[in-house]
Amino acid sequence: MHSRFALISLLSTLGLASPAANMKMKPRDLLPRLPDPGVVITQCASPGMLALAYDDGPYQYTSALVDILDAAGAKATFFFTGTLYGCIYNQASAVQKAYQSGHQIASHTWTHPQNFGSMSGDQITQEMQQLEQALANIIGVKPAYMRPPYLATGGSVLPTLGSLGYKVITNDVDSGDWNGNSVSQSQQAFQQAGTGGNGHIPLMHETYDTTVNQLTPWLIDWAASNGLRLVTVAECLGDASGAYSETGLPGNGQNSC
Ligand SMILES: [Zn+2]
Repeated sequence: MHSRFALISLLSTLGLASPAANMKMKPRDLLPRLPDPGVVITQCASPGMLALAYDDGPYQYTSALVDILDAAGAKATFFFTGTLYGCIYNQASAVQKAYQSGHQIASHTWTHPQNFGSMSGDQITQEMQQLEQALANIIGVKPAYMRPPYLATGGSVLPTLGSLGYKVITNDVDSGDWNGNSVSQSQQAFQQAGTGGNGHIPLMHETYDTTVNQLTPWLIDWAASNGLRLVTVAECLGDASGAYSETGLPGNGQNSC
């Protein structure tokens, strides 16, 4: 008798004692799972969309890129750094223009360190918080999304970003613009990835004239002719209201390049 009571108790603990208990589904279980901080995300959570994502700005093409996207009614995501190509404060108006146009502003770290994957947790935290302070000063919000430089996700990167609340994006299509791919080679990468399945989050850089002025217009047409909506990374993950952190906005304003 003793062991039978123990079994019933165990089944009850597991929620298996009553078949009816298994029929109940919590509303949250019926919704797509929202991204967890510190967990690498490579693609959208749903089909029918494309989340254009541009690394390494702000740069001299940022403003023109926003114009191209806005003219098409497209939304995109900008993974900005603080100092990679000059100081972000010197390009504050382009950053503000991208934000005010409804594009998602996300972090690509303060200095874009080559050794991000081997940095200590404190160093990674510094990289994130310096850019947070700059974005708080320039656009008044703190990003909740980031893409690691060189897509480095080893070492202390994920635990540290998780503890800071960052949702970590890599990619599932590589335009190869950083590696000397021609525009037509980049286009082939998208065509090979195709338009079925969950939406793509590509790796692209706004620091190439060809990516901004040739590949992006082609992608806008490609998306339109295939019925894909051009949305931010957060929206393509069902997390449109989670693009920015609601708490922990840096307060003292002290920050410079
Ligand atoms: Zn980069």
